[in-house]
Amino acid sequence: MKKILEYQRIEGELINIDKKINQSNSMKAIAQFNDSSNTAKNEMKELDKKAGELVNAFHKLEDIMQKNINNIRNLEKQKVEASDKEQMKKLYENIKTVNDNLNIIEKRLSDINKNIDLVLKKFQKNKALIANAKDKKVKAQNDLEEYKKSFDEQKNKLQKELEKLQKEITPNVFELYQRVRKENIYPVFVKALQEDNQTRCGKCKSIIPVARIDKLKNQGYIECEECRRIILLDKKD
Ligand SMILES: [Zn+2]
Repeated sequence: MKKILEYQRIEGELINIDKKINQSNSMKAIAQFNDSSNTAKNEMKELDKKAGELVNAFHKLEDIMQKNINNIRNLEKQKVEASDKEQMKKLYENIKTVNDNLNIIEKRLSDINKNIDLVLKKFQKNKALIANAKDKKVKAQNDLEEYKKSFDEQKNKLQKELEKLQKEITPNVFELYQRVRKENIYPVFVKALQEDNQTRCGKCKSIIPVARIDKLKNQGYIECEECRRIILLDKKD
């Protein structure tokens, strides 16, 4: 058991190194650049959709405008042929209405144009933002590689110690350890704990039922039913 506990301790050092790398500033920066790139990309998708809608609205209005222009031409023709005053008055009124419509349409078209410009500007801004984030991400990735490399020697040393120790550990004890480790659980072995007159798992502190304490005493270890760790008897020697 002493050897496997030493093995566990060394593996803990390796885990701590990986944790340090994962929590490094470069790693955080990379995640941040990914985030801002994704936000910009999503916004660009929305802008693209909006631009499409604006262009459609623009074409529809253009059609309506053309129809109104044709209307005016027709009315102007009728004006030339009109004979009585009443008919003339009506024609003038109609022309005025169509003209008013045209003015409204023209204003709407200009508004749509302004909106399209705005969308394009935002699109370009996001494009620049993504390019910038990409450059910074490359730099952060290089920094991260450098940082990782700075641990290479230490990690190799620990890895070799583990290999050496493994040969000295009883195979079924090692198998037990590996089986739990595969579930990304660390530490695997914990000592039983006495608290409130109960024997508990040293990690999650769940109570070990009396019936299982016997097994723990006989076998020297049991698996925690809560956190899956291997609970060892805490021999006070
Ligand atoms: Zn537990």
